[in-house]
Amino acid sequence: MRVQRLKRLILFGPYVLALAGMVICIILSVLLVRQQKRIDALEEEIGHLTVYQNGLIEKISSVSSSVDDLGSAVGAISTELSLVDIGAYTGSKSSTSATSWPHKVYLTFDDGPSVNTEKILDILDSYGVKGNFFMVGTDNPDLQKMYKRIVDEGHVLCMHSYSHKYNEIYSSVDAFTRDLDQIYSLMYEVTGTRPRYYRFPGGSSNSVSRLPMKDFIKVLDERGIRYFDWNVVAGDATNPMLPADQIIENSLCDLNEYEEAMILFHDLSNKTSTVEALPAIIEAIQASGIPIATIDDTTVNIQHYANTN
Ligand SMILES: [Zn+2]
Repeated sequence: MRVQRLKRLILFGPYVLALAGMVICIILSVLLVRQQKRIDALEEEIGHLTVYQNGLIEKISSVSSSVDDLGSAVGAISTELSLVDIGAYTGSKSSTSATSWPHKVYLTFDDGPSVNTEKILDILDSYGVKGNFFMVGTDNPDLQKMYKRIVDEGHVLCMHSYSHKYNEIYSSVDAFTRDLDQIYSLMYEVTGTRPRYYRFPGGSSNSVSRLPMKDFIKVLDERGIRYFDWNVVAGDATNPMLPADQIIENSLCDLNEYEEAMILFHDLSNKTSTVEALPAIIEAIQASGIPIATIDDTTVNIQHYANTN
């Protein structure tokens, strides 16, 4: 029996061993394949994680560039704001508009002195502004004091004829000269200062003169007196009296048309809406940063006659 068993063992042993080996190999192969699959799955997962990580990095960098953009936007807005501030301060529209505002505005008042002259002087004083007064003659001592106050407070006192009567002044060169001498002497006598500027009653382009205006301009030239008209009209010469808001609008709407704007107001005693309108006009001009100036030798020629003939 033993011999038979031994024979069987010798006969089948190798087969059994080989079979066992094969089985072990198969099992190991299966395990290997499984492990490999796990490794592949892990690698894939790592790949996904890498992609996700790259995505995150991309997002972070895009957020950071957004923050940068936001920063430069804020910077640009700040720059804009500071430009606006400067623009408001200087009143210069040149950066935003081809039309530039005037370099100067002259406030000119015709036909005084009157009770309104005093009110206008008080208003000008409260804003620290100087005006230009084209005045006529008067024998009223109280009104004559206005000439002196104007000069003493640094405003410019100018002549506008003594009588303001077109029929007399423009009737002849002699009549014009007599009237001129009269207002010139009165102003010099009251103020101790020689007036140097003149405004023709009705302007140098008036249609009431019997003689050519150049004949009268010659008289002024011979005496070294410059004359000025205006290029902006407040509209307060109309009858009935213009409302204050209309005077404000008229005075401000055309200012940017001229290199130097000269606004024509009137300070006759019945022109109360001019007095009423003046503070708002001064405030608007000051807010735009344009200097309110007095007439001097550097003032450009604002003359209707020269412009139209
Ligand atoms: Zn006048």
